[in-house]
Amino acid sequence: MTTESPLDESTQSGTSTLYRGGFVYGAADPFATAFVVADDHVAWIGSDEAAAGHADGVDAVVDLEGALVTPTFVDAHVHMSATGLGLRSVDLTDALSVRQVLDRIESAARERGGRLVYAPNWDEQGWPEKRPLTSKELDRATYGGVAYSPRVDGHSAVISSALAAASGARNHPGWNDSGLVTLEAHHAARDAFYSGISAADRRSDIDAALKAAAAAGIGLVHENGGPTLSSEADFADVLAAGLRGHGPQVIGYWAELVGDEESARALASRMGARGLAGDLNVDGSIGSRTASLREPYADGQDSLDGGHTARCGHPYLSVEQVRDHVVACSLAGIQAGFHVIGDAGVDTAIAGFQAAAHQVGVARVTAARHRLEHLEMVDVDGIKALVELGVTASVQPAFQALWGGPDGMYSARLGHERAGGMNPFAAMNAAGMTLALGSDTPVTPFAPWEAIRGCVNHYDTAQRISAESAFLAHTRGGWRAAGIDDCGYLGLGQPASFALWSVGSHAPSRGLTLARLPDLSPGATLPTNLRTVIRGRTVFELEGVS
Ligand SMILES: [Zn+2]
Repeated sequence: MTTESPLDESTQSGTSTLYRGGFVYGAADPFATAFVVADDHVAWIGSDEAAAGHADGVDAVVDLEGALVTPTFVDAHVHMSATGLGLRSVDLTDALSVRQVLDRIESAARERGGRLVYAPNWDEQGWPEKRPLTSKELDRATYGGVAYSPRVDGHSAVISSALAAASGARNHPGWNDSGLVTLEAHHAARDAFYSGISAADRRSDIDAALKAAAAAGIGLVHENGGPTLSSEADFADVLAAGLRGHGPQVIGYWAELVGDEESARALASRMGARGLAGDLNVDGSIGSRTASLREPYADGQDSLDGGHTARCGHPYLSVEQVRDHVVACSLAGIQAGFHVIGDAGVDTAIAGFQAAAHQVGVARVTAARHRLEHLEMVDVDGIKALVELGVTASVQPAFQALWGGPDGMYSARLGHERAGGMNPFAAMNAAGMTLALGSDTPVTPFAPWEAIRGCVNHYDTAQRISAESAFLAHTRGGWRAAGIDDCGYLGLGQPASFALWSVGSHAPSRGLTLARLPDLSPGATLPTNLRTVIRGRTVFELEGVS
């Protein structure tokens, strides 16, 4: 890209920039190749020929050289400080054995010289040892340090003896002498670990995570906080970082149950939360065998935690609890929502929503725009019931791409038949359910194009959706899931939030060319982000490009 301007390329207040020679996707004009940004909004959009008339009236002109322009993505499910912490932690995502995991942890422990060790994202599926690491091994690798090593799904963790002692995890359900903790024992360990991180470190983690989101072309994230997940201070810091305007915008969901309208209003306003939703757990995860199932886990015999978890997973909430929360939030006009993965968990959530509608009326429930996170094992009847109540689905295509398929973890845990019906994106789409895509980072990284590719190449060919639909779900769908309908596209007067992508396949051409999405087939090179602009402000620029 080339910029001709006496000014810095980041748009300052009172300045205007003409971008031309690109392919503008997701605009009202499908042939648009140029647009003008004035201050923080899109002031004009059209063709290069028409743009010539604007070139003299603006402060700067950017020649896009055939770059693809898209509205910024919305990541509808994130955990910012944990993501930032992960960016400066041991990466276990691709570790192939217990041995390798321990080697990496040991070198990190040496580097960190006695400070806390965070070692997330291990996955024992496919390891030669066929088991997770143990507390004893973690103690040796960290020289007796405080270490927290959550499984990739975040619903169980191996903790060091020092953390076990500091957190009192031993005294809670879900404790196991191997050091692999689930349920309350896991939550106690996680709380104790996070409380050992200084506020300053936490804030710099949040900034690092927002920077990574901006680099991925994301302009808005939905932070999922809650009393058992993070802390009030952490949630407030994430919201404040979003308001500073140096990176993506932030909408926050706080996962705490309320029993009446007044408490719903008071809690949401005290927290600055858009909704009392997010990771308010109806159940756990498939990987940790805590997702609540109608029928037992197919591989439940050698349960990860040695038997504390029932063979059908773990329901955290009852129908009545879901109902009361949804009633309270609906009356307050606030979004309610839950984390739900297993089929029995989904049954609980739906029954709770329906019972709430019975109490306060369908219209009230629908108007509050409630949402569900993950919603991985929902059937056609369930989808229909949720659509009738206006419930949005916030889904993670990366989960399906990572753990779906005949040889994947879902099949191992559930058998082929049940695993095969998971994440029915096409059925959701066809039923008119609003879909929003997200990463659940740090579970999977910020990778919007990967998410779209995951939808397009779903293992179940009947559940594939088009790239265009998936793109919409990752842009407008994310705003809609937050109850904001008129956002997430490039149009006149819209916020100037967009990313510029080098695609490679778009040849600059004369005449009308329809902007189209890049090749998303497996193995194809995904677009490279050249620049992210949020509300007129450049918040990311690829090095070496200007
Ligand atoms: Zn989450």
